[in-house]
Amino acid sequence: RERTMKTAMQEKPTEDLDLTGIRKDFPLVSEVVYFDNAATSLSPEPVIQSLVEFERNYRANVGRGIHRLTQIASQRYWHAHEKVAEFIGAKGGVTVFTKSSTESINMMAQGFAWKSGDRVLTTVLEHHANLLPWYRLKDRGVAVDFADIRDDYTFDLAAFEAAITDRTRLVAITHTSNVLGVITPVQEVAKICHDHGALLLVDMAQSVPHMPVDIMALGCDFAAFSGHKMLGPTGTGVLWMKEPVIEPLLLGGGIVESVTRSGYTLVEGYQRYEAGTGNIAGGIGLGVAVDYLIRLGMERVRRHEQALTTRVIDGLKKMPRTTVYVPDSPDRRVGVISFTVEGLHPHEVAQRLDEMADIMVRSGHHCCMPLMDRLGLPNGTVRASLGLYNTIDEVDLFLATMEEITR
Ligand code: PLP
Repeated sequence: RERTMKTAMQEKPTEDLDLTGIRKDFPLVSEVVYFDNAATSLSPEPVIQSLVEFERNYRANVGRGIHRLTQIASQRYWHAHEKVAEFIGAKGGVTVFTKSSTESINMMAQGFAWKSGDRVLTTVLEHHANLLPWYRLKDRGVAVDFADIRDDYTFDLAAFEAAITDRTRLVAITHTSNVLGVITPVQEVAKICHDHGALLLVDMAQSVPHMPVDIMALGCDFAAFSGHKMLGPTGTGVLWMKEPVIEPLLLGGGIVESVTRSGYTLVEGYQRYEAGTGNIAGGIGLGVAVDYLIRLGMERVRRHEQALTTRVIDGLKKMPRTTVYVPDSPDRRVGVISFTVEGLHPHEVAQRLDEMADIMVRSGHHCCMPLMDRLGLPNGTVRASLGLYNTIDEVDLFLATMEEITR
């Protein structure tokens, strides 16, 4: 095992990223092969340092008071919002910091001005975070419709178009599946939505960390994603809204223009949606994560991860009793690779990968039970999900270990 781990540690430079330099920033990658990036990513040293720096040097609350420390903290926290907005190509709109994609989507579902009879259209691809908040609206008279996917795991635009109705108030779809890795045609979906007078929320939890995203070009009205999946600290997420049409989920300190005995006036902007003391260090750290990604270049990150993904898929496809659930076209997928091995429970495969070669993968239903049902996989899948710091050698170690397991 030591020998194989050493091999994995030799970072082969790729044409796109300086992996030797990058890997020095991620302490854990010298300990394990981290292929669970879809669950949460690792954070680089500059992000970790920014958390320590906040706690040590200028810890203070934000948007309150005028002393020096609160000025520094407020400015950096505000600037982090700006950086995130710029990173996704937002021109205007409101960028709210939350603790996760889940919180962002719940915020949308709870804050939207629903009318009884409204419908939400979603897909079988969705993570529970993009399903349960809509199910919950049943008691407000809102129904949920589903669009299916094709048998080749790609988005079925015709099925989607057939499922949308004039009662569809909101369409909530994922940009990339956290099980199949498939990229959905958001631009086309947006056009269909807007032709039907519906608004579009896109779950970008698995796209923003792995590819260049231009939210304006895609045509979304709302986007949710997770800071902790894009090198940011845990407990960070984002909700972007083209128009801030929703009511805030929480009311309280930090979001008011004025309060009298008879009522209140709320401020405009992201502060309206961030009542109380948020994850200030986390938000600032997320800004640093964005700086880090910008410095690497998302085009380069995408190309690097695409190359690794193809290598994993091609390798797995050659193995006996192994089925891989991915779309064929590399342009239509990200580095999320689900597979099963006949005769072995996904948890067993995941445990063996850990025990045999310190490889961390996820197994189970991946919070996508309707999709597992659609695929006919009650035990779920094994999922290897790649990140920018992963190497060809790590992929080869993974494949060699899988070969042993399948044998
Ligand atoms: N949406 C997708 C596609 C995801 O993959 C995940 C997490 O795995 C989520 C939403 C939920 O993200 P969070 O855990 O940040 O709430």
